[in-house]
Amino acid sequence: MIPALMPTYNRADLAFERGEGAWLWTTDGRRFLDFGSGIATTSIGHAHPHLVQAIQEQAAKVMHTSNLYRVPQAERLAARLVETSFADSVFFCNSGAEANEGMMKAVRKYHAENGHPEKFGFLCFEGAFHGRTLATLAATGNAKYLAGFGPVVEGYRHLPFGNMNAVRDAIDGSTAAIIIEPIQGEGGVRPADLRFLQELRAVCDEYGILLALDEVQTGMGRSGKLWAHQWARIEPDVMSSAKGIGGGFPLGAILAKEKVAKYLVPGTHGTTYGGNPLACAAGNAVLDVILAPGFLDQVDRVARHLWRGMEELARKHPHVATGVRGAGLLVGLQLAPDVLNGDMQAAAAEEGLLTVAAGQNVLRVAPPLIVTEDEVDQALAMLERAARRMTLAAAQADAQ
Ligand SMILES: *Cc1c(COP(=O)(O)O)cnc(C)c1O
Repeated sequence: MIPALMPTYNRADLAFERGEGAWLWTTDGRRFLDFGSGIATTSIGHAHPHLVQAIQEQAAKVMHTSNLYRVPQAERLAARLVETSFADSVFFCNSGAEANEGMMKAVRKYHAENGHPEKFGFLCFEGAFHGRTLATLAATGNAKYLAGFGPVVEGYRHLPFGNMNAVRDAIDGSTAAIIIEPIQGEGGVRPADLRFLQELRAVCDEYGILLALDEVQTGMGRSGKLWAHQWARIEPDVMSSAKGIGGGFPLGAILAKEKVAKYLVPGTHGTTYGGNPLACAAGNAVLDVILAPGFLDQVDRVARHLWRGMEELARKHPHVATGVRGAGLLVGLQLAPDVLNGDMQAAAAEEGLLTVAAGQNVLRVAPPLIVTEDEVDQALAMLERAARRMTLAAAQADAQ
């Protein structure tokens, strides 16, 4: 019989009842170091007192009123995001896919309002992940995810990640925007070359098309800067954010330059929940922590410590791991071909460390941004033991 909870996931047999900072406790009392952060989402850790207090206080006042009325918490959060980013205006929603969906609508609206409704096409990249709705699936372009859900939404092309010649060849009169994750998350923690991002910015300017960044996973300090594109010193025209922005409370956002945002007038786009007082109270509390003086410097410092340790791990266990990539606290451990990321993830979990698998046989390590060097050392020791287990398992398989 089908489970009451629809079986869309292969879930590990772990259920957590409590968390604190980078730690989680199962219902049967086991403790885990959480270096997955609920897929790079619990950005300031579990049960952060400031976030808990903000949510509790707001919940006791008013949670939801709808966008028929002014929402002061949303106005404040938007103003703070505008102040700290390239954007002039922000739309709030509830998830990454919804943010991307709205971002793509904003792109098409921009060209339509500028007299170019024929510019509706998006150039995307192989290995991308933009979500599970019909249009974001088309943008994702992964054949496995698309199977059975056709016809595929029209207007999406996929190009080799990092190939500027392919981009130039693909641009035509129908191109509306280039959509890219500064670091592909689900696709294997694959960073775009900073030069490639700069060249995309230039080619967009050259042809009058928009640069749309998906920073759902890379934003909100994850890369060591507030937004990952800041490493490339470029600005997009429009950008999506979600995951870490609510610290675990569902919240997404579209950040846009005025030239794009100004066409999303009343009636063009909407959401019932999006940007409600409770979600925005959470968003403001997360931002309080991340924007505190010195916080991102500390993220950068701890990240470098984690990188050094993971690079050493790869050097010591070349039969298990072949390299490290990503940025800041979004780190991918590239595993050797005969070590499956799912097996390494399971081995790490047996040592008490939670991680997340990603594409291209990568183990994704994404601790909360409040993680300490001491916790990183503990995680590295667990990874070390997991790597030794994998080496032993491989040796035993060879011997047979
Ligand atoms: C997770 C993710 C999404 C989808 O977000 P949901 O909240 O699951 O809809 C989109 N883009 C990127 C880059 C992501 O990592």
